[in-house]
Amino acid sequence: MIIVFVGAPGSGKGTHARRTAERCGLRHVSTGDLLRDAVERKTDVGLRAKEYMDAGKLVPDEVMMDLVSELLDSREGGDGVVFDGFPRTLAQAEGLDRLLAERGLKVDKAMLVDISEDEAVERMALRISCPKCGAVYNLKSNPPGVEGVCDKCGGKLEVRSDDREETVRDRFKEFRRQTQPVIDYYRDRGILASVRTSGPVDEVARKVAAALDGCGDAGGTSEGA
Ligand SMILES: [Zn+2]
Repeated sequence: MIIVFVGAPGSGKGTHARRTAERCGLRHVSTGDLLRDAVERKTDVGLRAKEYMDAGKLVPDEVMMDLVSELLDSREGGDGVVFDGFPRTLAQAEGLDRLLAERGLKVDKAMLVDISEDEAVERMALRISCPKCGAVYNLKSNPPGVEGVCDKCGGKLEVRSDDREETVRDRFKEFRRQTQPVIDYYRDRGILASVRTSGPVDEVARKVAAALDGCGDAGGTSEGA
C-alpha cells in the first residue's frame, strides 16, 4: 500500500499523513525526515543532499529520487509507505512511479488535503513555536499554559519567520505552481481523493479515513502492511 499526501503549507497534511500511517500500519516518510536521516547516516546520496542544503538550495529531483530509491530498498517496517510532502513536482511524481514499477508497486491513492490561501494565512498566524525544543502551539486550539512560555522546556515562544503572512502567501503560490500538475496527474489516473481541511482536526481525520476508504485500497480492507 502506497499513499501520497499532498497539501499546501498550513493544511495540516503532515498531521493527517502521520495519523493515516499509524492507523494503517504503514511507514510515515516525510521529505524532511528522509533528508535528515540520509545526512545523519552519511550515505553517498545523503552527503550530496547536504551540499545543497548547506548552500541553502533546494535538493534537486535526481537526489530526491535516489533517496526514495534507498528508502524503498531498505524495507524496514514493510513495503507500505505514506509519503508526506513528496512528490512535490511532476518530475518527482513520474520518477516515483518508475521506482515503484521497478519493484512491482504503485501509488494506490493520492490524498489532497485542501485549504484556501486565506485560511492557510489565518491558521499559520495562530501558530507559535519554541525555538529551543521545536514544540508548536496554536493560540486558538492548543495554547501554552502560560502565555508566551513553552510548556515543555520553559523557552520563549515566537512566530517563526516561515509562518508570517507574506511568507505564507509566497509559499502557497509556490506550492500551487509546483504541485498543481502533481494533483492533476493523480486526478487523471483516477486515484485522487480530496478533503477540505476545515473544522476540528479529529473531524478532518475522520473525513480523510472515509475518503481513503479505510486505508486506501479499492476493497476497503486493510493489508495490515
Ligand atoms: Zn520548548
